[in-house]
Amino acid sequence: MDNQSAARGEVVRAGQAMLERGLVAGTWGNVSVRVPGAAQVAITPSGRDYRTLRPEDIIIVDLQGNRVAGALKPSSELPLHLAVYAARPDVGAVVHTHSIFASACAAARRALPPVIEDLIQIAGGAVAVADYALPGTPELAANAVAALGDRQGALLANHGAVGCGRTADEALLACELIEKGAQIFIYANLLGGAHVLSDGDVAAMRRFYTEHYRRRQEGAE
Ligand SMILES: [Zn+2]
Repeated sequence: MDNQSAARGEVVRAGQAMLERGLVAGTWGNVSVRVPGAAQVAITPSGRDYRTLRPEDIIIVDLQGNRVAGALKPSSELPLHLAVYAARPDVGAVVHTHSIFASACAAARRALPPVIEDLIQIAGGAVAVADYALPGTPELAANAVAALGDRQGALLANHGAVGCGRTADEALLACELIEKGAQIFIYANLLGGAHVLSDGDVAAMRRFYTEHYRRRQEGAE
């Protein structure tokens, strides 16, 4: 299978997984991956049902957003995806979701502090809220990149979440853990408030993930 076909298949699988795991409703949310060995990105089309999405529906664009292959219109959040790839050479996949608890924190414009272990491991600290901008705009893309920094996820004010990683699975996991972390944060606040962990403990958890857990996964691949 050529690299474009492989990337298209990965986008379809991640799009369907995003729907199955309850991270989006309807046709919202979008997924992209870099095409290995090419300055290209494979991204979901605008407004298509993930349940019937086929690899040939996935659009291939260059890093400026020009269409290389595919007949459909790319996701309206293409500028967001391209801005993340431009800023982060380490990122191979981007997933954008509208999951409920993450969106609740995004609507309240409350960052997720480091309060729960698994999210800390992949986020490496707080998950910030990007400054508000209209969906699909270059401003939203720039604000999201600023909020991401060198981390794997951010909230988009009054909108949703964005997760990234080396693979679509990693980006999807980031979105799942942001959603779970947001739910826990909200529930903990109902119980009198979540306790934020120290910088030292946060750094130790992140180190464990990058030096042991992630390496073990790489070894298994
Ligand atoms: Zn969106």
